[in-house]
Amino acid sequence: MKEFVCIICPRGCNLKIDENLNVSGNSCKRGLEYAISEVTNPVRSITTTVKINSNSIKRLPVKSSNPLPKEKIFAIMKYLDNVEVKAPILMHEIVVRNIFDTGVDIISTREVKD
Ligand code: SF4
Repeated sequence: MKEFVCIICPRGCNLKIDENLNVSGNSCKRGLEYAISEVTNPVRSITTTVKINSNSIKRLPVKSSNPLPKEKIFAIMKYLDNVEVKAPILMHEIVVRNIFDTGVDIISTREVKD
């Protein structure tokens, strides 16, 4: 039996899941899906910054286009620490395509003109 707090919405239900993937404590279906995913294939979205060669800012805010496998997050964050892009950058422009063969892109979350 595993116990953890659901992070899908602010209500923060206390979830329990057993070895047969029976879930309790959830108040909705999203909590059920989250509990099963957390045990079988845990994922997390990331938001961070990368270096940018620009006249206006030094770090470009970026995020993952979809949640990433939790076990790859540390390596991905380390990799992104060495990524540098050059202005101009569009909002939602792909900064790293298919990072670590996950099928997920790292995209900018702001526009930088120069
Ligand atoms: S189980 Fe549903 S209501 Fe409870 S925290 Fe998760 S998403 Fe929110």
